[in-house]
Amino acid sequence: MSDPTTPVRVRFAPSPTGWLHVGGARTAYFNWLFARRHGGAFVLRIEDTDAARSTGESERGVLDDLRWLGLQWDEGPDNGGPHGPYRQSERLDLYRERAAELLSRGAAFRCFCTDESLEQRRQASLAAGRPPHYDGRCRDLPPAEAAARAAAGESCSIRFKVADRPWALRDHVRGEVTFPAGMVGDFVILRSSGLPTYNFACVVDDAAMRISHVLRAEEHLANTPRQLMLYDALSAAPPEFAHVALILNRDRTKMSKRSGEAAVAVGDWRRAGYVSDALLSYLALLGFHPGDDRETLSRAEMLEAFTLDRLGKSGSVFDSAKLQWVNAHYLHHATGEQLSGWLATGPGPVPEGGDDWAASVAQLTAPLDAAARVKLIEAVRGNVSTLADVAGEIGYLVGGTFSTEPEAAEALAAAGAGALLSALAESLGALAEWSGEGFKSALQSTGKAQGRKGRDLFMPVRAALTGRTHGPELPLLADLLGKDRCLERLHDAARRAG
Ligand code: GLU
Repeated sequence: MSDPTTPVRVRFAPSPTGWLHVGGARTAYFNWLFARRHGGAFVLRIEDTDAARSTGESERGVLDDLRWLGLQWDEGPDNGGPHGPYRQSERLDLYRERAAELLSRGAAFRCFCTDESLEQRRQASLAAGRPPHYDGRCRDLPPAEAAARAAAGESCSIRFKVADRPWALRDHVRGEVTFPAGMVGDFVILRSSGLPTYNFACVVDDAAMRISHVLRAEEHLANTPRQLMLYDALSAAPPEFAHVALILNRDRTKMSKRSGEAAVAVGDWRRAGYVSDALLSYLALLGFHPGDDRETLSRAEMLEAFTLDRLGKSGSVFDSAKLQWVNAHYLHHATGEQLSGWLATGPGPVPEGGDDWAASVAQLTAPLDAAARVKLIEAVRGNVSTLADVAGEIGYLVGGTFSTEPEAAEALAAAGAGALLSALAESLGALAEWSGEGFKSALQSTGKAQGRKGRDLFMPVRAALTGRTHGPELPLLADLLGKDRCLERLHDAARRAG
């Protein structure tokens, strides 16, 4: 940081025109990490000046997704703060005041050109091989005349007067970036509707909210020269910038909702049974290099590792198979309590016909007490890669009936399977006390007596108890199913077996 005495204040500034994109979630996470690491503030600002496209529903959705991700903001539209309001639509007076200030200082001018006329002139410039910049028609109108026309009710926008000079930026990710003179024409800061443009509102707010660092997507790098000009004209010190490389599709195009490859909405991953810690870990490591070869990083580990100079310069391809691996890793290493907590949080609102996996698990486990439920869920963690898989993995462990998968039926049809299962049932029936350990020794002695070991021994037993060829360890299964159900299933399978 250039001035260590400046308090760190960062912001995430979504436009509520849709749902939260995975790229937005990653930007929010990087800002959150930077604020937490430096004891600073994480501000949430809603950029809703595009009245036609912004909706309250989208804003609520974005806030919900951020909460689900555990990225709590210190100041924002719901919890307020010293620099509020935090919704741009509630700060319009401020933008108008600042625009008037620039106007009175001659740094901006009133522009009376209509959209049609601007478009015609733009096309003419393009056709003549000139840059399609504003041609300066209203730039030199005498200010008093322009003010009189506006006062008489003529519609006008306010344009910023771009100086003929280059701009330079020291970006924490991109390094030294120069923007030559002539790249940008005089641009609108306040529309004829009285609403500010993105660049203007953004700079007025970042300055007013004392933002020290702007961490945002690389696609905004092209906006930065306009923003630097505005800071200069408003006599405000610009923040430091870090433009984070994009998340890409496999063909290296920007990942967007239109590309139709992997899901791009955070809510889609939540509904599909991904846990927020896994999603954040995966997203953070797309574009952040921890300095070693770790494949997952918890929030605490990220806080430890996060520095701006470890952000990568080139875009990273989103790989859903890798994300699924990361999610499975989190589930496999979670405790029953953690898994239960994630299940309780659930998928959020489920659309008509969608899979409410949390409700399915709750229904299946309703007869169990809390401790038995936690134990059951923990028992299947190794067999699931998403929370949506849990219900399917516990169905055969609760209740009486279950179906037998073809591979399991094959194991039961093997010669001698029936005799093995009957002998095991007999030996288990004689156990004075039912336990996983007791089951294990009965299984071993029966195996010895029947001349079977390894797969030949375990597979028919597993198939008989669960109807499947994969699942929790056999002693744990015995414990979860209890003596009566185990004996019943063994007898039943022995009758049908080979
Ligand atoms: N509202 C802008 C967006 O959603 C914010 C850009 C910025 O961070 O300056 O992309």
